[in-house]
Amino acid sequence: MASKVLLTGGAGYIGSHTALEFLLAGYEVVVVDDLSNSSEKAIERVEKLADKSVRFERLNVCDGEAMRKLLTEVGAVDAIVHFAGFKAVGESVQKPVEYYRNNLDSALVVCEAAKEFNIPKIVFSSSATVYGLAERVPLVETSPTGGCTNPYGWTKYMIEQILRDFAKATPSLSVTLLRYFNPIGAHPSGEIGEDPLGIPNNLAPFVCQVAVGRRPKLNVFGNDYPTPDGTGVRDYIHVVDLAKGHVAACDHAKPGVKVYNLGTGRGYSVLELVETFKRVNNVDVPYEIVDRRPGDVAICFADATLAREELGWTAQYGLDEMCRDAYNWQKKNPNGYRD
Ligand code: UDP
Repeated sequence: MASKVLLTGGAGYIGSHTALEFLLAGYEVVVVDDLSNSSEKAIERVEKLADKSVRFERLNVCDGEAMRKLLTEVGAVDAIVHFAGFKAVGESVQKPVEYYRNNLDSALVVCEAAKEFNIPKIVFSSSATVYGLAERVPLVETSPTGGCTNPYGWTKYMIEQILRDFAKATPSLSVTLLRYFNPIGAHPSGEIGEDPLGIPNNLAPFVCQVAVGRRPKLNVFGNDYPTPDGTGVRDYIHVVDLAKGHVAACDHAKPGVKVYNLGTGRGYSVLELVETFKRVNNVDVPYEIVDRRPGDVAICFADATLAREELGWTAQYGLDEMCRDAYNWQKKNPNGYRD
C-alpha cells in the first residue's frame, strides 16, 4: 500500500507544488488548508497534472478537534508535512500576537496529532530567516541561529525548538527541519504557481506583476550594499526543486532530528534576477532604486552540501528556468487563481 502524507497548507504556493511531487512519487496525499491565503483550484490542478486524486479537507490546523476527526477517518499517515502558517514578514511586525498565536498553535496541534495517531515523521517548512543577520555566508546548518529580524522569523525559530523538544521526548519520531532559501518560479506547465494576496512583498512575484503590466515598476531596495552591483544577493531556488526536497526528506527520514538547507548554493543580486527575467522572457521590467528595506541582509546563500550527501537531493533548475516558469504562470494566470 502507498505511504500516505498529510500536507497542512497543501493548497498554498509551496504546498501545492509539493503535493504534486508526492503524487508523482507514488504517495497518497491528504491536504488540509483553510484557504485563507490559497485556492482550492490549486488542488484541482494538481490532481489534473498528476492524474490522481487528493483528499482535501478545508480546515484550520489550529482546530485540534477537526484535525483529530480527519485523522480518525483517513487511517494511518506516514508523515505530516507542515506548511500552514502566516508568512508575510511585514505584516508579522504589525500583528505579532496573531502570528505567534496562529503559527505556534498550529505547530502544537501537529505535534499532538503525531503523538495521538502515532505518525512517525514530521517535516517542517522552516526558513533561512532563522539564521537572522548572519555574519558569514554560505550558511551551513550549524551556523548560529536566532537574532531574527521580525516575528515571522521568530515563529520559525520557535517551532524548530518545539519540534526538537518533542522529538527528544519521542524517540521513535523523525523530525526534518527544511530551511528554505528563496523559492521562486512555478510548475513548468504554468498550471500552478504563486498567487499572493494584495501587493507582493517578495521580489519574484513583484517582477512578474510588473512584467504583465499589473504594476508600473519595481522598487529595488538599495544599491549600496557590499555586493558586486550594490543590490541584495539571495539564493533563489525553483519551487519544483524545493518540492522534491520534501519527498527526499520523507524517503530518508530516520528517528531523531535532521536539519537541511534547501537552496542552490549560488547567490544572485536583485539586478541579476531582473536582467535574467528580461532576457529569457523578452519583456521589459522598469525599475527604480529606492532606499533599503529595514531588516534586509546584504547577502544570503546556502551551503546545500548536507542535503546532497544525506538526501541525495540537489537543485536541478537554474535562474533562467526560474524566471521563465514564473512568467509563464503569470501570463497564463494574470490574476492568479481568481480568473
Ligand atoms: N527586493 C526588492 N524589491 C522588492 C522586493 C524585494 O528590491 O519589491 C529585494 C530585497 O531587498 C532582497 C531581495 O529582493 O534583496 C529578495 O527579497 P524577498 O522579499 O523576495 O526575499 P527575502 O530574502 O527578503 O526573504
